[in-house]
Amino acid sequence: MQYSDKCNSDECKLSKNTRNKIPISVNLVVTTKCNYSCRFCFGHFKQLDSTPRDCSILEIPKLLAEAGCKKLTLGGGEPILSPKLLELLKVAKKVGLTTCVVTNGNMITKERMMALSHYLDWIAISIDSFFEYIEIKLGRGNGGHVSQCIKVASWAHDLGINLKVNSVITSLNYSENMMEQILSIKPDRWKVFQLLQIKGENTESTKDLVIPEEEFQYFMNNHKSIKNVGIDFVYETIDDMESSYIMMLPDGRFFSNHGGKYIIGKKTIFEAGVLVALNEVGWDEVKFRRRGGYYRWGVKKQSCSENVRESVQKIRVEYSTDSNLLSCKDNIHSNKIIGGLVE
Ligand code: SF4
Repeated sequence: MQYSDKCNSDECKLSKNTRNKIPISVNLVVTTKCNYSCRFCFGHFKQLDSTPRDCSILEIPKLLAEAGCKKLTLGGGEPILSPKLLELLKVAKKVGLTTCVVTNGNMITKERMMALSHYLDWIAISIDSFFEYIEIKLGRGNGGHVSQCIKVASWAHDLGINLKVNSVITSLNYSENMMEQILSIKPDRWKVFQLLQIKGENTESTKDLVIPEEEFQYFMNNHKSIKNVGIDFVYETIDDMESSYIMMLPDGRFFSNHGGKYIIGKKTIFEAGVLVALNEVGWDEVKFRRRGGYYRWGVKKQSCSENVRESVQKIRVEYSTDSNLLSCKDNIHSNKIIGGLVE
């Protein structure tokens, strides 16, 4: 398609915001497998072609850094299920990127976090409700999700990893007051999202979960004072999320959400280079900025206690010869191909 600066169509307006912009913060899907079955998950990628592509996911961080990227978020699916997670974090740190892992938290152990901690700046966990029965209704596990996430949050604080909490707001939780529990978890950043429907991904399973923007605003208004105690509170409506994320598939193709459906690039960054591949799908930098995409992600937390530091060192040595974290302590098998994406 030919874009024109004089044209005022939505596509040309979007293109003006996206062309030749540096992909400052990229969300990479490292696996589409997940051990959960959240009803609102939009990472099934049912439209993806399955043509195998000759590429190495481990080369992606360097190419992104060379194109000006500063922060890499690894998500999925559940990234802990990827045998390449630790290696990816290592190469991302080597090229100077701020790193973040978005996880449902279920398979995180303190040992795993210790093993990752040297290469991990942020961990984002998902808590949509502090009522376990609501999490079960949403498909976030079969019970125990909240208590597990509270443990993960406390390990993150112990290990000096910045903590983010992601919450999806739906008809089941928009009236819940989470203030007290979030204050006790003390995340550095709390992101709340209006339930987003993506055509062909989650539209059928979320019919009864959809909320209008007024109900999302109601939740937001009830919690926005949390900013006063230093928690970076960010909220995103459906419109805020559209085209404002730079997202990449494991094979190096960018994809984007335009109008509630995925646009997937045809060329990988290996074939076309980062900027050409990104221009295929577009990215709205103005919206990215408006939704708080630029923040102090490079801030280091206080280092942890001497005891914890010694344990971390020991665990790192144990894990250093094996890049597959899952094979170290226990075996978790998942053949389900589902996933989700949040920065
Ligand atoms: S990837 Fe999808 S199914 Fe898995 S935890 Fe995230 S939203 Fe839920």
